[in-house]
Amino acid sequence: MHELSVSSAIVDTVVRHAAGRRVTAVEVRLGRLRQVVPTSLAFYFELVSRETVCEGARLDQEVVPARLRCSECAHAWEIDMPHFRCPECESADVNVESGEELEVASIEVEEAECTVSR
Ligand SMILES: [Zn+2]
Repeated sequence: MHELSVSSAIVDTVVRHAAGRRVTAVEVRLGRLRQVVPTSLAFYFELVSRETVCEGARLDQEVVPARLRCSECAHAWEIDMPHFRCPECESADVNVESGEELEVASIEVEEAECTVSR
């Protein structure tokens, strides 16, 4: 049910930014370390977005690779699974450079309909 809470967070953010405009597409950046399953996220996004301005919006998911950097020798590498030791010098003093992203990168909204009053 992890993807359900991630979907709720995305929809909350988008609804706030859309300010009442209908949303047609949402682009999200998800770090590998978040371990979000894309098909599952798409499913919950559709569910959570019902009856909001996001209903029917396309969800574009960009998965950001997880990268670590060693504080000792500045070596940086990508990981599939958390592995917190530098392969170059074996130091455990490493920092996560990327992979923890969970952000709405952009949204597309429909142009507000013009109300012609005379
Ligand atoms: Zn190192």
